[in-house]
Amino acid sequence: MRSQEIRAKFLEFFKEKNHKIVPSAPMVIKDDPTLMFTNAGMNQFKEFFLGNSVPKSTRVADTQKCLRVSGKHNDLEEVGKDTYHHTMFEMLGNWSFGDYFKAEAIAWAWEFLTDVCKIDKDSLYVTVFEGSKDADQLEQDSEALDLWSKIVAKDRILFGNKKDNFWEMGDQGPCGPCSEIHVDIRSAEEKAKVSGASLVNQDHPQVVEIWNLVFMQYNRKANGQLESLPAKHVDTGMGFERLCMVMQGVQSNYDTDVFTPIIREIETITNSKYGKDEEINIAIRVIADHIRAVSFSIADGQLPSNTGAGYVIRRILRRAIRYGFTFLNTKEPFMFRLVKVLSDTMGKSFPELKDQRQLIENVVKEEEHSFLKTLDQGLLLLDNIVGENKDKKIDGRKAFELYDTFGFPIDLTALILSERGYELDEKGFDIAMQEQKDRSRSASEVSKDDWVILSNDEVEEFVGYDVLDTTVKIVKYRKV
Ligand code: ATP
Ligand code: MG
Ligand code: MG
Ligand code: MG
Repeated sequence: MRSQEIRAKFLEFFKEKNHKIVPSAPMVIKDDPTLMFTNAGMNQFKEFFLGNSVPKSTRVADTQKCLRVSGKHNDLEEVGKDTYHHTMFEMLGNWSFGDYFKAEAIAWAWEFLTDVCKIDKDSLYVTVFEGSKDADQLEQDSEALDLWSKIVAKDRILFGNKKDNFWEMGDQGPCGPCSEIHVDIRSAEEKAKVSGASLVNQDHPQVVEIWNLVFMQYNRKANGQLESLPAKHVDTGMGFERLCMVMQGVQSNYDTDVFTPIIREIETITNSKYGKDEEINIAIRVIADHIRAVSFSIADGQLPSNTGAGYVIRRILRRAIRYGFTFLNTKEPFMFRLVKVLSDTMGKSFPELKDQRQLIENVVKEEEHSFLKTLDQGLLLLDNIVGENKDKKIDGRKAFELYDTFGFPIDLTALILSERGYELDEKGFDIAMQEQKDRSRSASEVSKDDWVILSNDEVEEFVGYDVLDTTVKIVKYRKV
């Protein structure tokens, strides 16, 4: 089944169960000071769970664009190295706002995976919260255990601790136990070599978590105590690319049709081959992943810049550019040429990619162009620094020079150093950065952003770019 169809099946399934299908919220968040990017499907429904607003429908489902590169969820280091963590991914989800609870959530998840998706029951494992002996003194989630016991063999039910199987929104607010569904994607021969029930993904990289069902039944009060919620909620999240991997019978998200068109294009443009050399494989995966994160962000109104969310995007893009430069020998801008294939494959579900395609290409190309101007000189300087260094730790001030003069984000310098077995003194970097900030604050208060954003102080909604020519860097907002 192709990915388009898999996405549609999920939404159809929950529509039939009386869920309202809603669009993805933007991946870039403009009106929440605590969060720069959407990192889970539930973000856009936070106010319902907190009881601050009332939903129009009590059953909702969608696919949500997520980015996990900062804060509580940061998967950046995993990306490219493993084959199922992305920076940007789609999270499929169904919600109950005070409507159905565990019985339906569990039965429907199982029905969808085994009846609709026809996933082999013998490759699935589920987890249940085991309870806690800490101050909360929580009991095992026996309700979920009973429900699962009716549909899954006993040795396929595993118990998880608070870290993995108890979800909390924050220090206060709704929380509750969760049940995860994991899929064993190993071949039959590989599986035959192992036995037993301790097969969740902490133990084996090919037993992958695909779906998390959160049951919000408590509220954590300001004093830390838990009270039962009068209305209980369900919040589920399933990794769309992981589901595609399982359904397409492959062992890597990058071998699904979500990624293969992009990978083929990278191979063509860079004259490289995926699947032969691990360093090259990682570089290709990183580039295929990062172009999605960057393109979706720009389409959502977040341009690369020197501060805040814009700098997160610039760092992701520069990271990909360096992977190409070092491992695929790309000395000219090339990532902008991947935007077309991305928009061709995903534009139907996310029309913003189609609508903004030309602008995304222009912005990425210009970014590539400017970073490539200094990248090789920066790498040469880094070589010298490493060459001069006897102990395996690099002075943070040198990293600051790379940042300041050559535009190397600190995490990029750290990554390159770690590839060579060196460590970076990040404290020294922070000190040098602070000193520079102090100097420039006294000199001027002018923003160093590369892009002029016309905005008001009020909350705004991104409605599109004004001009498709990046020489006129204006972003259009309307007040809401
Ligand atoms: P993992 O343990 O694999 O890091 P998680 O427990 O952090 O996943 P959740 O927060 O429970 O993930 O999110 C719900 C689902 O979203 C997961 O079950 C998984 O299928 C998917 N998912 C989470 N992080 C990523 C990611 N970085 N890339 C792709 N899919 C992801
Ligand atoms: Mg995670
Ligand atoms: Mg997990
Ligand atoms: Mg999880």
